[in-house]
Amino acid sequence: MAATILLVEDEPAIQELIAFNLQHAGHLVVRSNDAEQALSLVRHALPDVVLLDWMLPGASGVELARRLRADPRTRTIPIIMLTARAEEGDKVLGLEAGADDYVTKPFSPRELLARIKAVLRRRAPQMTDDVVEAGGLRLDPQTHRVTGLDQTISLGPTEFRLLHFLMTHPERVHTRSHLLDQVWGDHVFVEERTVDVHIRRLRAALEPSRLDTLVQTVRGTGYRFSASTD
Ligand code: CA
Repeated sequence: MAATILLVEDEPAIQELIAFNLQHAGHLVVRSNDAEQALSLVRHALPDVVLLDWMLPGASGVELARRLRADPRTRTIPIIMLTARAEEGDKVLGLEAGADDYVTKPFSPRELLARIKAVLRRRAPQMTDDVVEAGGLRLDPQTHRVTGLDQTISLGPTEFRLLHFLMTHPERVHTRSHLLDQVWGDHVFVEERTVDVHIRRLRAALEPSRLDTLVQTVRGTGYRFSASTD
């Protein structure tokens, strides 16, 4: 599981230590020293997770968390607050501001990595390496292998990401623009009909195992992955 992590921390030594450990674990780290810089980085490209120090020069980590939660574009980014303050009231304040989790300094790199994995699993299951199985399909993100009723299904990289997203967000209707954001990435200019092209390719790959019906068109809205039989 390699995620792009925005690290907002003003203490150079701590920033360096955390960045080193995250990079060592395979993550891509984007660093920021304060809330303003963090916001401009987020405007440029959405990270998968934000690690947010509570005490920052200028706007605090709590204020930044509130601003990220208030904007529809950044509302669902997982946020983990980093803080030296262990008081219960602070924890509640951090969580109320929209943080998903809270790590008290000093923390071990292992603990931080486990927390990152946990928030990704909750908020963005397509970011983890967990095997997904539904309706006879099995997708392994680690080996990039997909099988349908035990037959190997070969998919292009986009179809693979599309199927992974759909399987980890089943029974929900996704609009084309939502799929573009989630599968193609933020700020990538792709026409909405591109989604249709890749859905067609995905279905064609699933057809020999007769699992193409798992990927359903919801007329006028978008697409849905459904393994339910009714
Ligand atoms: Ca600080």
